[in-house]
Amino acid sequence: MTREIILATGNAHKVQEISAILGAVLPGVSVAGYADAQPAETGVTFCENALIKARAAALVTGKMSIADDSGIAVDVLGGAPGIFSARWAGKNSSDKNNLELLLQQLQDIVPKSRGAEFVCAAAVVQPLADGQLFERCVVGRWRGVLLDAPRGGAGFGYDPIFCPEGYSVSAAELDGRLKNQLSHRRKAFNLLVAELQQLLA
Ligand code: IMP
Repeated sequence: MTREIILATGNAHKVQEISAILGAVLPGVSVAGYADAQPAETGVTFCENALIKARAAALVTGKMSIADDSGIAVDVLGGAPGIFSARWAGKNSSDKNNLELLLQQLQDIVPKSRGAEFVCAAAVVQPLADGQLFERCVVGRWRGVLLDAPRGGAGFGYDPIFCPEGYSVSAAELDGRLKNQLSHRRKAFNLLVAELQQLLA
């Protein structure tokens, strides 16, 4: 029997990446993207926002729901854009505009000071028989440095300016399968898998 986990996101790239990550470790489990519940992301941490999204989907669907909240944290900016990564150049700004603003802000910063990390919080919310919600959130990180110009056409968001530690290409030049093995999202969902297995059992 195929079991289904609801993934609260309107981002097709995330559905693809998280389905690939979980498909490899949870056989017989399908991940269904769910974009209808779009709560305001009022949290001040990645985990708070991931839980807000997963909770909203779980309350509407009554099913086990997962969500992630992610972004890029730049050392010299004290961890910004952080939770504001998707709206760094303004509300509803495009990935391209966000990336260009970040590049502009770092234009005088030399390579050795351009350290950054992608951060991903992965949350699961399971409605219980007594009406309560079971909630859990874990965090994964992927370190690298920021390039001074975009490179590569794969991935999304800040991938074209993120050079992962140990590599000399951008995340947008990596094969998608390799990105899925290395990424912050992979690390976070790896940490969540044991929890998901128990909840699905
Ligand atoms: P969220 O959808 O609220 O989690 O926002 C995530 C934002 O962080 C996206 O809009 C991207 O700009 C950025 N981001 C998160 N993960 C990645 C990634 O794997 N590659 C590139 N950018 C990412």
